[in-house]
Amino acid sequence: MQAVAKKLDEQDCLASFREQFCLPEGVIYLDGNSLGPLPVAAKQRAVEVVTQQWGQDLITSWNKHAWIDLPQQCGEQIAPLIGAAPGQVICCDSISVNLFKVLSGAIRMQPGRRKVMTTSDNFPTDIYTIEGLSEQLGEDRCELVLVDEESIEAMLDESIAVLLLTQVNFRSGRLLDMKEITRTAHAKGILVVWDLAHSAGALPVHLDAHEADFAVGCTYKYLNGGPGAPAFIYVAKRHQQQFKQPVSGWMGHASPFTFGSAYAPAAGVKQNLSGTPAVIAMSVLEAALSVWKDVDILQVRQKSMAMGEFFLECLRVLELDSVLPCVSPSAAKERGSQLAFRHEHAYAICQAWIEAGVVADFRAPDRLRVGFAPLYISFQAVWEACEKLKCLIEEQRYLEARFRLQQTVT
Ligand SMILES: *Cc1c(COP(=O)(O)O)cnc(C)c1O
Repeated sequence: MQAVAKKLDEQDCLASFREQFCLPEGVIYLDGNSLGPLPVAAKQRAVEVVTQQWGQDLITSWNKHAWIDLPQQCGEQIAPLIGAAPGQVICCDSISVNLFKVLSGAIRMQPGRRKVMTTSDNFPTDIYTIEGLSEQLGEDRCELVLVDEESIEAMLDESIAVLLLTQVNFRSGRLLDMKEITRTAHAKGILVVWDLAHSAGALPVHLDAHEADFAVGCTYKYLNGGPGAPAFIYVAKRHQQQFKQPVSGWMGHASPFTFGSAYAPAAGVKQNLSGTPAVIAMSVLEAALSVWKDVDILQVRQKSMAMGEFFLECLRVLELDSVLPCVSPSAAKERGSQLAFRHEHAYAICQAWIEAGVVADFRAPDRLRVGFAPLYISFQAVWEACEKLKCLIEEQRYLEARFRLQQTVT
């Protein structure tokens, strides 16, 4: 497998992007799906924004360094990666907050309907925000409906107002068919919100072409914007007149610096801003996004699929496939850029693997999750990671007591 990996690395047209990232020595990072590593450009920008812009230029930086434009500028940098024409994406807040805004606005656009459907296996925050909204508006205005991922389309009917789906399941990696589901939902008059947390920067997304209504996503996973980096929100052009989000703050006002007493939303996607943007985080994000201007997302997808297949093949060769059964869809085209494996001691295995220099993560109750971020991972590193996994499992090293101590963040 070593030789196969070497050959795949030689043919890798994305290999040169690796030097644009600061990666710690001796670490194989298979967790870019949780927190992307630090881009060199982002590190430089962090220093610049703090020492020069904040430190020296102070408040003049809002104009001088165009801090005020950062939410839109970052949004426009993300737009091509998710198949959105200009004027539809803006950066702000977190996915959770943006979901609240989008769902609130979408429900208002569906008089006579109250059901908001999502999958029972969705990321918890997606379900929680619907619950919160339901509590606030009352069940007669917003009722949470949970369905199995397998039966989404079968459960769609004309009583549903909004369908909220995560395109790539955070646990299993299963990739939903955005085109087909959106079409089926639209035929029943349902508005569709897509959560792109594990899609943006991992695979080509076609929001405009597939006629998505709304979308949200984060930038600290595959987009490498840094811990807690601002999220994004997409509102399709055709809805921008009618859509109204409820967190009507001054930054989303048509004219924030007239300081008028009545709220009038900004035209277009900008009304989704609420308060002052996190300038430091957004400056770092903007630099991190600059990496993508030379990236062909189709190549990213190809390499990511090849890596997933290669990883599975390595496990077979090392006879780990029965010890760690893969619970992700078996076809690469039905998965995002991650794989999940089931093991009773998944948490301890993950901890022991980290100690051996391979960072992956654990998802309750019993999943070991491995992410492949093609811009900085090599096939040889993947093979090495698998060999280390084999070693710690063979020696049963993960059974040592210290690997079982569950930390706060998993
Ligand atoms: C990571 C993730 C989130 C995170 O939400 P935040 O509010 O940005 O913390 C939301 N949804 C999904 C599907 C995720 O994977």
